[in-house]
Amino acid sequence: MVAADSTTVPATGGEPAAAGPVAAGAPGDAAGSGPAGRDATPDLLPVPTRQWVGLLPEELAAALATWGEPSYRGQQIFTWMHRRGVTRFAAMTDLPKALRRRLAALGDPVVPEVRAVQVDPEDGTRKYLLELADGQLIETVLMRYRYGLSLCVSSQVGCAMGCRFCASTLGGLVRNLSAAEMAGQLLVVNRHLAVQGERVSHLVVMGIGEPLQNLDATLRFLRIAHHPKGAGISYRHMTVSTSGLVPQIRRLAEEGLPITLAVSLHAPNDALRSWLMPVNRRWPMAELMDACREYVQRTGRRITFEYVLIEDVNDRPEHAAEVADVLAGLGGPVHVNLIPWNPVSERPFKAPSPQRVEAFAAALRRRGVNVTVRRQLGRRIEAACGQLRRRALAAAGDGSS
Ligand code: SF4
Repeated sequence: MVAADSTTVPATGGEPAAAGPVAAGAPGDAAGSGPAGRDATPDLLPVPTRQWVGLLPEELAAALATWGEPSYRGQQIFTWMHRRGVTRFAAMTDLPKALRRRLAALGDPVVPEVRAVQVDPEDGTRKYLLELADGQLIETVLMRYRYGLSLCVSSQVGCAMGCRFCASTLGGLVRNLSAAEMAGQLLVVNRHLAVQGERVSHLVVMGIGEPLQNLDATLRFLRIAHHPKGAGISYRHMTVSTSGLVPQIRRLAEEGLPITLAVSLHAPNDALRSWLMPVNRRWPMAELMDACREYVQRTGRRITFEYVLIEDVNDRPEHAAEVADVLAGLGGPVHVNLIPWNPVSERPFKAPSPQRVEAFAAALRRRGVNVTVRRQLGRRIEAACGQLRRRALAAAGDGSS
């Protein structure tokens, strides 16, 4: 599962140890702080404790209110999970002991298990292979930038969108991730980072899957990640990508969150885009651009257009001119992020040379488009999205998804 030129490290950075037994009479442990432990109270809660990583503090409080617990318990448990990385009730030492025992008896909150970590020895990019409770595998990738640590989160197991250049879609969509499984990716990586005194500062929902096809869970995850009692990541440090699901772009605009939308353009015209990205047959570029214009007007946020450069497919100078014309129709400042294609063995494409990438970028700039070329992080590990997962599935004798 691990490329020969990469480094795999053991999955260290487990959950912080319990702070030890709580002394009798410790704050919050007094008799009468709630009816925890009373036989007459039902043990069933509105949401199973195993799924609590996907709840906001007020929802945790509402669940515990059925046991007569005060509303601040929700915030306490949320902070233990999302700020401190603790998911064992027994270790949540500011909860009454009896409540801890009672919650633990129902089962601790569940987060993905780290199955492997690949580390690029030169740029520090870490790719985590995570196993979900039902045995499904996903990837999450941590990248180091000058401005902070950015985590690229998966939103689905597999992907239905069928983009021709992508490894994540080769076996189709298996299922959506829950908000708990998305928040769990952030939680376990932050737990890992805590060992060296670091935390994730930026989120991109751009890993395996089409996040807008799983919009409710994605929005819930963003709210959890943003909450000041948890990871506290600014909405302005969050980016959600889409291959171009027009109705969901409009719905996202209505949410009014000041996040960045990243639209995967990847082609200069409908003919080529429909060939590379089947979603374009349903929502062609004119409709996509209408939705983008509306998004910018409603949110006041700039859209980033992602463009994977594939040699001789979409990287010629005339393609750059067409892209500039398409984006000029948006009537405002636009930003294009060029991404030299990361080779995937199952795909018959070639990555362009640095000269071709620079020529494409220069052609866009000459036409007034803001351009960045994405630094190729993780080149010494399997950098393309979905490759590590596919390798693990193949090793387990299941290359189907
Ligand atoms: S590029 Fe994104 S939307 Fe397209 S198939 Fe891959 S994961 Fe899905």
